[in-house]
Amino acid sequence: MLQSQLFPKTKKEVPKDAESVNHRLLVRAGFMDQLMAGSWTLLPMGWKVVNKINQIIREEINAVSGQEMLMPLLHPKSIWGETGRWDKANEIMYKLKDAHDKEYVLSFTHEEIVMDLLRKTINSYKDLPQAVYHFSTKFRNELRAKSGILRGREFMMKDLYSAHTTEEDLMEYYEKVKGAYSKIFTRLGFNFKIAKASGGVFTDKFTHEFQVLSKAGEDTIYWKDDDSEAINEEIFKGDKNDYTSAKSIEVGNIFPLGTWYAEKMKMYFTDKNGDKKPVWFGSYGIGPTRVMGTWVEVSHDDKGIIWSKEITPFDVHLVGLNGKGEETYEKLKANNLDVLFDDRDVGAGEKFKDCDLIGIPVRLVVSDKTGDKIEFKERNSDKVELLSFDDILKNLK
Ligand code: ATP
Ligand code: MG
Repeated sequence: MLQSQLFPKTKKEVPKDAESVNHRLLVRAGFMDQLMAGSWTLLPMGWKVVNKINQIIREEINAVSGQEMLMPLLHPKSIWGETGRWDKANEIMYKLKDAHDKEYVLSFTHEEIVMDLLRKTINSYKDLPQAVYHFSTKFRNELRAKSGILRGREFMMKDLYSAHTTEEDLMEYYEKVKGAYSKIFTRLGFNFKIAKASGGVFTDKFTHEFQVLSKAGEDTIYWKDDDSEAINEEIFKGDKNDYTSAKSIEVGNIFPLGTWYAEKMKMYFTDKNGDKKPVWFGSYGIGPTRVMGTWVEVSHDDKGIIWSKEITPFDVHLVGLNGKGEETYEKLKANNLDVLFDDRDVGAGEKFKDCDLIGIPVRLVVSDKTGDKIEFKERNSDKVELLSFDDILKNLK
């Protein structure tokens, strides 16, 4: 990608209303744009990052037999009436009426929609277990939409739902998903804790939240130093002296929902003895857009963002000075590297500032001074080396 053509350009000014680091940096560097409070366009580089996050999530969810699909975002009132959540979750729902006064809600989660799907398709214990998921937009009327992309009123979620014949089978799968989530957040490079928490409007049972330690977080968690236990402050009772606490950002949440949804929505299957039983149900969410914002909160300096190799928008930021760099750009692309090539007719200082702001892990410079070598620098280090193209390739692979 030629930087002269990249949409949009980076910005020098910090957005006036931006209180959080992810808001300031992701907007200045050109990853996202705010339409109104809590509502964001993911610009080309932001969308690339979110897609990389999604791909890591997809691989690990597929590995625990999740099957990807896509569900609608406009839901009829009737389905949400069946469980009582049309009233119970009123505060966060965006409800609307059409020209014939028929009522709808924009998706804020999908338990009821999946349950409807299951009761139309599952009859026997032989049809179970099942696990289905999708990546799609959720709409929630969040009161405090001030944390940049950490709290959208419209945001992306990966939500997985599983259905089982017994509680044991549900809990065995729940532990598998907990393992998959641990792999996801480890691959993403986060320092996280798995904290016990309450289920909110979803369940009366305990749930588990994946919490990334960050002072930008709205949650507080307590944990034992040997990591044997972590608990969200909301449900924490006990002697706080035995625990360490810190602010944290919830990036994922898993819910062992039980049979409540199936009983309300009459999702019964026939067991081995021919008896009708309600399915055991679980749901499991991760917010990829919040994950992108969380990464920026925990990985930046005063100059800009510091991406990891796993989710960087480009593998390499190639800076051409004195009209140089075209040949290196072509050679890098020929080696399957995704390159942002700064071909613009602007000064070196401005180009280097943009490298630091955008935060691609590797910066290469080709200029009059570099001869047949290339300057190599990593975003998270000050060391600058002059290397041959082959050595650069070795470092990148
Ligand atoms: P919070 O407590 O932060 O409001 P939640 O517990 O209501 O979040 P869940 O229903 O558990 O959220 O949603 C699953 C995941 O979706 C969360 O772990 C988070 O990653 C993401 N998520 C939830 N709300 C938002 C939001 N407003 N903006 C962006 N991501 C969100
Ligand atoms: Mg939650």
